[in-house]
Amino acid sequence: MREPYTLRRLGDLARAIAYRQALIKHECWPRAKLEELQQHRLARLLDWVTQRSPFYRELCSTHRVSQSYSLQDFPIMDKKTYMQHFDEIVTDPRLRLSQLQKHMAHVSGDEYYLGEYRVLTTAGSSGQKTVVVFNRKEWSIQEAASMRIAAMMGVVPFSMRRPTIVTIGSPSPLHDSYRLPLSMDIGLYRFHVLPATALIEELVQRLNSIQPHMLRGFPSMLGLLVTEQLQGRLHINPSIIAGGGEPLPSELRKQLQAAWESSVFDIYGTQEGLRAMECNPGQGMHIFEDLGIVEVVDEDNCPVPDGTLGHKILFTSLFSFTQPVIRYEISDMMVLAPEPCTCGQPFRRILAINGRNDDVLYLQGRAGRQVAVHPVHFWNVLESFADIRQYQVVHEPDGICLRLMFEEGNGNTARTVKEQLARKLHALGVDCPSIRVELVTTLEDRSRHMGKWKNIISNVNQSMQ
Ligand SMILES: [Zn+2]
Repeated sequence: MREPYTLRRLGDLARAIAYRQALIKHECWPRAKLEELQQHRLARLLDWVTQRSPFYRELCSTHRVSQSYSLQDFPIMDKKTYMQHFDEIVTDPRLRLSQLQKHMAHVSGDEYYLGEYRVLTTAGSSGQKTVVVFNRKEWSIQEAASMRIAAMMGVVPFSMRRPTIVTIGSPSPLHDSYRLPLSMDIGLYRFHVLPATALIEELVQRLNSIQPHMLRGFPSMLGLLVTEQLQGRLHINPSIIAGGGEPLPSELRKQLQAAWESSVFDIYGTQEGLRAMECNPGQGMHIFEDLGIVEVVDEDNCPVPDGTLGHKILFTSLFSFTQPVIRYEISDMMVLAPEPCTCGQPFRRILAINGRNDDVLYLQGRAGRQVAVHPVHFWNVLESFADIRQYQVVHEPDGICLRLMFEEGNGNTARTVKEQLARKLHALGVDCPSIRVELVTTLEDRSRHMGKWKNIISNVNQSMQ
């Protein structure tokens, strides 16, 4: 008979607490010992996938890869190719993309799939949706990594009386920022997830009543909230602030520190299991290299030296055995620190990253004053269309221009996109501007933007008037 749900969840969390103890030990290891651990875990992973994953088994027999594989013998995977081969890549033949999609349509909480898997999904700025599956042991490692992040910020279970943590993000259980707290919610912390798509007035009201010890969200959202605090509508006093999902500009960090006299941390993470976190504010983010390998490469996939800006990264998860993630292309451009950190951790640090760097648009409201429209509202609409390959929203003095690039060059969806966006802006209290659609076959390459790709661009004004 299968264990009841609560027991299984508690079992997962107990395992996570044990893993966390192991992770803590790695933080004071010398670099050479960490690299040895990485090589050991990598060898186990590659051995496993060449036996259990039809995709990698086939690849090894076709290319006659010798038993002493190195990571570079394995192909680089972009998101599109990865999802096309999903059913052959996974190591459990019961996992089929079409079935997982049916399951995801009905997930409302922390449900297991087939009694043992948790399923997440992402919609990146390229419009390519991905699906990520973790078994219970792998999920416990995710939970342990999440506890490590909390501990690095000073939030340790039992050290404070049930700290209240508010995340402003996706209220979907298919996103790890919501699912992880949900799966770990056994009373150690008080978690609240507020939807990033809510009206700012609503967020202010909820935050005033919750009074969080810790606040997490997109840096641009934290920027809107600090304005609310400075203008006297928001009255909170969090001691820890964490930004993630976008770059955290140093100006904003200073503003947040000054307004709330709090520690402000920058966090980096992907749903596939890559995590990085600052040891001290402003020191750069340590990549959790005991759980993954990051290669920073140029446009031709050649490694770039530490201290140099790469064009993208290739990520290999050292703990994902159900759904192997090997040399998986992530389009973030980053610079790794050439020197070890003074804190003594053996993990390399991300010094700079150019991920999403979208503008907040200030649009004329129906009630007279301007409405600050966070990029999340545009992502929400534009990224819900599977056939939009890439897009840009540009705020011009005469209205909004939507540049859309479709998967098959077919723009039938364009009208629906325009209507949905107009409805969304109306709901936010915006006096809807004219929306013009341009169908394009290419959008400027991100490298031409000084490494700063923007989906949402304001050519009008940069702040609330
Ligand atoms: Zn450090």
